[in-house]
Amino acid sequence: MSNTFQKYNLPSALLGALARMQYEHPTAIQDQVIPIALTGQDILGSSKTGSGKTAAFSIPVVAQLMHRPDASVLVLAPTRELAEQVAGVMSSMVSGCKHLRTVLLIGGEPIGKQLMRLRTNPNIIVGTPGRVEDHLCRGSLHLHKTTFLVLDEIDRMLDMGFSIQIDKIIKRLPVERQTLMFSATLDRNIERLAGSYLRQPARINVEIADNESKNIQEESLYISESGKFQVLLEQLSRREGSVIIFVKTQMRADHISYQLQQANFKVRAIHGGLKQHQRKRVIKDFRNKHYAIIVATDVAARGLDIDHIKHVINYDFPQAAEDYTHRIGRTGRAGATGFALSMIASPQEKRLWRIIHNEPVEKEERGSFRQSSGFNRFKSRPFRRSFSG
Ligand code: AMP
Repeated sequence: MSNTFQKYNLPSALLGALARMQYEHPTAIQDQVIPIALTGQDILGSSKTGSGKTAAFSIPVVAQLMHRPDASVLVLAPTRELAEQVAGVMSSMVSGCKHLRTVLLIGGEPIGKQLMRLRTNPNIIVGTPGRVEDHLCRGSLHLHKTTFLVLDEIDRMLDMGFSIQIDKIIKRLPVERQTLMFSATLDRNIERLAGSYLRQPARINVEIADNESKNIQEESLYISESGKFQVLLEQLSRREGSVIIFVKTQMRADHISYQLQQANFKVRAIHGGLKQHQRKRVIKDFRNKHYAIIVATDVAARGLDIDHIKHVINYDFPQAAEDYTHRIGRTGRAGATGFALSMIASPQEKRLWRIIHNEPVEKEERGSFRQSSGFNRFKSRPFRRSFSG
């Protein structure tokens, strides 16, 4: 069969690893990125979360590392969790190749362990900009011979204020390198960065076809703030499978999680206020289905790659269209069907919902917003990924 990874002429060790990971057919973004990246060309890729982007850049990079023992890669990602996931995927791909060693450089973890690992001259370096820069300043990390640079979710890294660190890090890399840069959105800012970090990049923009994207059922519910918790209880008792509930602040995450525990739900909160080992624990236990519900803030849930999340509940509606996409992208992964319910409590939120879904914004929404605590204004629609924020 031709539509498999074999068509790319990958090293057999990598093909074996992909088979063990149960990756049989490339996703759309993989099919576009892999052959071009294997030729050595720079890439500016835009694709949504859950599309298989991590493997899209990892496969060609690992394939080249397997052939060239002297080569190395630096991957920068916005959050610790995403960096961990990338490192995990790349480690699985190189398992069995003794000359390929991975190091994960993220904040919140003991630096001593990272220093020891760095002394083994790892050729796969994955990290967040803050900690990578820290190691550069200490002199524990040298990047002047780096062959490949991957900037994952660059838009998010800029949103999080990492642009200066990224700039400093890239100045330490050789000009002769291959750079793969990915962003969920391609605005003027990203184009400007692409102009300075990339050389004649191939532009890859994978629009997910409508029939592929309908695997997330989106619903909205207009409700007053005071009615939200009761509705949440009802919704949780009728939904099966893992649930991620989004709220806007750390305090709210703790509070809702506590209230749900009082109502006998097995639930944990995850947010940026937790220590790294606590966050890890929550993710691990959730992944292993020790409990089915987590209450999260946007930053904490960014990049969470857990296939079995069935429902996303926006207890607090996000403030930006982009966050909405990222949140609901936590479900419906790898072809599974997912559900996303948004509680909408103000005219502004209703407006944003409509903008996100390319619906006309009614005048009435700005003035007289009627709130309801029932399901009479319950709306359902298939997920369309084609909007542009
Ligand atoms: P990503 O967009 O990189 O976060 O990947 C989304 C999910 O798809 C992850 O759970 C991956 O393990 C999975 N995945 C990526 N590529 C493939 C593939 N070719 N076949 C099956 N699953 C995949």
